[in-house]
Amino acid sequence: MIDIHVHFGKFRDIQLNIPDIIENLTKQGINQIGLMPLLNETGSNLNNAHSTLKKYYSIYETQIIPILWIYPKISIQKIERLISEIPYKIIKIHGYLHHWDYENITRIINFTEQKKLPIMFHTGGCENSDAGFYMQICKNFPKQKIILAHGRPIEQTIEILQLCKNVWVDTAFMPTENIKLLIDKDFANKILFGTDYPIMKHFDNSINLDKWYKQNTKEIIETIGNKYFEQLSSNNIAEFLNN
Ligand SMILES: [Zn+2]
Repeated sequence: MIDIHVHFGKFRDIQLNIPDIIENLTKQGINQIGLMPLLNETGSNLNNAHSTLKKYYSIYETQIIPILWIYPKISIQKIERLISEIPYKIIKIHGYLHHWDYENITRIINFTEQKKLPIMFHTGGCENSDAGFYMQICKNFPKQKIILAHGRPIEQTIEILQLCKNVWVDTAFMPTENIKLLIDKDFANKILFGTDYPIMKHFDNSINLDKWYKQNTKEIIETIGNKYFEQLSSNNIAEFLNN
């Protein structure tokens, strides 16, 4: 099983280091994680996060799918340098935390398309980071693989999925009924299992992360069945990353 949306590092009151995250999620049956830091508003912690990830990637290479979270002012040269040090598999863009406009995203896509690097867009929070904001991008760059993380709002996400074959969604913080809805709409092959672990603890400090994870998995399996859960958490992600 793969969880495509996991964070390491400090986020306000919570902090988990990479070995702990891997140990905790391995216990949950997860053998690979899409791993990214938590970038701050200026992106000034990217270098540190990259160094930390580099250190642990050499130890946990088979378990980590490294994700490079970039900020609007980053240069392509810098992205290339970071990728030469860690084979990042996905580029992450967070349009709620950072201000990204169409031109700037296009600048990045000119690079990622050529490198065949998928992009994960955070969705939700405001108009400029809702799924609908990325409609033009998804349409105009049909060869660019895109993940709409969280799939928010779900109606806009479904509209994009109907129009764009290059788009996937992840289930991080997605209500279970929306996962079911996507399957009912025939998008089972477009859903990637992800959780945003361990951010849930920031929103509710009383959460026991192990229990939360078990319960979340159980709830999804009870709602969509084992077969679909396996598809979302294994086959889909493997296929997504493969071609
Ligand atoms: Zn996240």
